[in-house]
Amino acid sequence: MANRVKNRRSSLLEDDVFAHSEKRSSRPRPKRDSANLVHGIVMRARGHHFDVRTDLNDQHRARLCEIRGRLRAEKNVDTLVAVGDRVWVLPDGDERGLIERIDERTTQLSRQQPGSKMDAEDVIIANPDQALIVFAAADPEPHPRMLDRFLVVAEANGLPATICINKTDLVEAGSTQEQFAHYERIGYHVIYASTKSGEGIEALRQLLLDKVTVVAGPSGVGKSSLINAVYPDLNLRVGDVSEFLHKGKHTTRSPQLFALPYGEESYIADTPGIRELGLFDIDPSNLPFYFVEMKPLLHDCHFPSCTHDHEPDCAIRRAVESGKISRSRYESYLKLLHGEDD
Ligand code: GDP
Ligand code: ZN
Repeated sequence: MANRVKNRRSSLLEDDVFAHSEKRSSRPRPKRDSANLVHGIVMRARGHHFDVRTDLNDQHRARLCEIRGRLRAEKNVDTLVAVGDRVWVLPDGDERGLIERIDERTTQLSRQQPGSKMDAEDVIIANPDQALIVFAAADPEPHPRMLDRFLVVAEANGLPATICINKTDLVEAGSTQEQFAHYERIGYHVIYASTKSGEGIEALRQLLLDKVTVVAGPSGVGKSSLINAVYPDLNLRVGDVSEFLHKGKHTTRSPQLFALPYGEESYIADTPGIRELGLFDIDPSNLPFYFVEMKPLLHDCHFPSCTHDHEPDCAIRRAVESGKISRSRYESYLKLLHGEDD
């Protein structure tokens, strides 16, 4: 079995070969293996069926696929295939197919199901490359506690996170940069953007190119506007992104991928709300590891079991006092430690 499962790295290598051997503008040859299976990505789950965008489709269409019975028998169907999984499909006509193989996942955004065993993870998105966390400089005001919660989720899932602060046109030049400088100091990439002035749009475009990006952030900060702004051709289906990101705001929705119409494989995924991400299930003793600036100091506390809340001789609290760790970040840490919402 193992040698039949292609992992994503080798798939990406094949893409490179295509990219170099053919002009980017020409339609890439569909990837097929010896058994005539075509490669694809799961865009959406519909019960036990999946929309799979195979290399035979153009990016606006997907095949409705079932999972091969043999695969279903091997594992728990509910966790077998997730949105974002790279799969091999046996085409059935133009619109349907059968998922025959699933590539090994490289990463995943998951939550632990409340009350279940530690290993019973619920995969929300398979194979995300990165997270993009969007806030606005104003209207609505930035929410540092929420930003830190999203960053913790990204760290807990091993996802590189980029912060985007949109609507810089609404504030005095430089004031936002000052406000978020401490995130840059601890190593986060911050993109300052405005869909009105065009600031940061090219940087965003580069960031999203040929990646699967989980987009998070409160509503009204300009996520759809930003994604629309990075389209090279603005006549192209403006409105689809808003529909995608705004859909079912107040209901539990199933995750989906949205193909951006540039590059070979640029996708965004929306996230369920921060609560559904199961942040509050994170073991408090792991929490300091998800605050990147705390990690290097954790061995310097007097008590090995230090929670960095009230204990004497605590390296984290010392770092907060000396200004090495931002007080705002430390406050976020304490809120999360105590399971407080805000
Ligand atoms: P979403 O809910 O995060 O997807 O936000 P939208 O893209 O729907 O934008 C919310 C509102 O903010 C809309 O009225 C946009 O026109 C506005 N908006 C988006 N980007 C900017 C920006 O860079 N500057 C300003 N001033 N307004 C913006
Ligand atoms: Zn401590």
